[in-house]
Amino acid sequence: MKKKKILYIAVAVLIIGTILTGVWFNRQPEPGKITYRQFLQDIEAGKIEKVYLNDSDKLEGEYEDGEAFITDNPRTQNLKEFLLIHGITVDETNGKIKGEQLLNVLIILGLFGFLLFAVKRNMPGQKRDKIGKSGFSAVKPENTNVNFSNVAGNEEAKDSMQELVDFIKNPEKYARYGARLPRGVILYGSPGTGKTLMAKAVAGESGVPIIAASGSDFVQVYVGLGASRIRELFKKARSYGKCVIFIDEIDALGKKRDGGADGGGNDERDQTLNALLSEMSGFHDNEGIVVIAATNRLDTLDEALLRPGRFDRHIEIQLPDIKSRLRILELHSKNKPLGQDVNLEKVAQQTVYFSGAKLENLLNEAAILAARRGSDSIHAEDIETAFYTVVAGAEKKDRSSVSDTERMITAYHESGHALVTKLAAPENRVTRITIIPSTKGVGGFSMNIPPDRMYHRKKDMENSIRVALAGRAAEELIFGEDNITTGASNDLEKATGTLLNMIRRFGMNAKSGLLNYDVLYNNGFQQVQDEILEECRRRMDELYKEVRDLLRNNRRILEAIAENLLARETLDEKDLDLIINAFAKAG
Ligand code: ADP
Ligand code: ZN
Repeated sequence: MKKKKILYIAVAVLIIGTILTGVWFNRQPEPGKITYRQFLQDIEAGKIEKVYLNDSDKLEGEYEDGEAFITDNPRTQNLKEFLLIHGITVDETNGKIKGEQLLNVLIILGLFGFLLFAVKRNMPGQKRDKIGKSGFSAVKPENTNVNFSNVAGNEEAKDSMQELVDFIKNPEKYARYGARLPRGVILYGSPGTGKTLMAKAVAGESGVPIIAASGSDFVQVYVGLGASRIRELFKKARSYGKCVIFIDEIDALGKKRDGGADGGGNDERDQTLNALLSEMSGFHDNEGIVVIAATNRLDTLDEALLRPGRFDRHIEIQLPDIKSRLRILELHSKNKPLGQDVNLEKVAQQTVYFSGAKLENLLNEAAILAARRGSDSIHAEDIETAFYTVVAGAEKKDRSSVSDTERMITAYHESGHALVTKLAAPENRVTRITIIPSTKGVGGFSMNIPPDRMYHRKKDMENSIRVALAGRAAEELIFGEDNITTGASNDLEKATGTLLNMIRRFGMNAKSGLLNYDVLYNNGFQQVQDEILEECRRRMDELYKEVRDLLRNNRRILEAIAENLLARETLDEKDLDLIINAFAKAG
């Protein structure tokens, strides 16, 4: 892309240079200034060949020897006749710009325009979308026939987006209640998980146009261009009334500032970012415009973007689990002739960690193979072959390379958390366990803690430590002490924080008593540091052993949960209860 641009500029310079040189050498000599009297004398002397006659106050012409002259124009009525009588050619085309010069100028202007167009076309990020001078394309509602039924999985995200749809449709309703409306939503998740698709679906469901741009469209070589493009984008959006603005790769213009290491070289990006933020805060509450931005990673974004009133809703778009993969495969094979021997459920099983885009790609490759064979339908074999092409084509760091061992460790780790929640802290609800990686790390476990109490009970705090320790405890129990992993690092951070607070601030530890250790420390009792550390270690160890014993005594349930998780990748609370109850009945 960059190379091409340099080429265009080089060609432009060359052509313009050539033309200018040509004009220089062909240019008419500077006309000599003569008095009107001299002019009349020269006419009488028959020295003048040609006169350019017009309305201006100067009169130009040429002598027989080709020399040009200029004199005052008396603008007398019969000058033309006078000249003609003396056998002088009279040219009445408008003055100084003579025919051929005019042509030259036109050619230069034409070429210039063309080059400008060519160079502009090749500016980064412009690609194919070009309607109007802004270079951003807006898909009209009739083109956005995507809706939520085209997006498989991600039910929670769809629920959140449904609210957005309602807001776009009825902004007045919310405004009437004085509700602060969502202005910006960030969709984050691995590439190809359907973030763009989701934004289109929101527009489609709301029946409004979507204006799509990419963060890289705004990062330009020319200072100020990014900011002015942002303003243009929003102006265009407002002209549609209600609409969805989609900005892909928002990180291109909203990356975290790296501590000034690059010494303010990013003025341009800051200007652009500020333009975006000020446009967003300029929305009126009942306008019905929302900005949806997408990024692969939320944690690299500038905090300025994430503040309230800006992109204050963050919705994770996850890699599909086995059920969603099947849905995606079904969606994308609708228009393809599948052979009898194709079992999409089996394909869904095989494609662990595939994104939606990759699944679509898989089916497409298979269709190409079938077409090439001249077969009337896609066979299992085509999909099999395509599978290896797609996997081999994927980058190394891609999640599809997560090994089976790692999946197994993740499954036991997450099952440990879930089982201990059910056994030790049953008033908490496990909403979801998964071994599908998210941007936050491999696997995931989520728990609904009952509504915030004003005070936290000692037993709740201890239970939350037990739940946190359960991941590591399961790993150790199943795979042995030598095979424990770094997967527990966040858990340990949380557990340590909670325990330290119990001891240091809340007087919840029998051994350390009712003292506030911060007060002691500030009053010169520095040795309490060691005491706290000692007590933290002792108590954490105790809790860990409890958890490990609990899991050991329920090992068969733990294994059953992990096996289910490996097969189905995601379990919800109902699934979990079914498994646990099966064992309870069996006694
Ligand atoms: P992202 O914006 O997250 O990189 P895209 O929305 O561009 O991903 O996804 C690319 C394509 O992959 C989509 O156009 C769609 O065909 C397919 N796809 C991705 N996720 C899904 C999904 N959840 N359901 C159906 N199709 C999907
Ligand atoms: Zn964990």
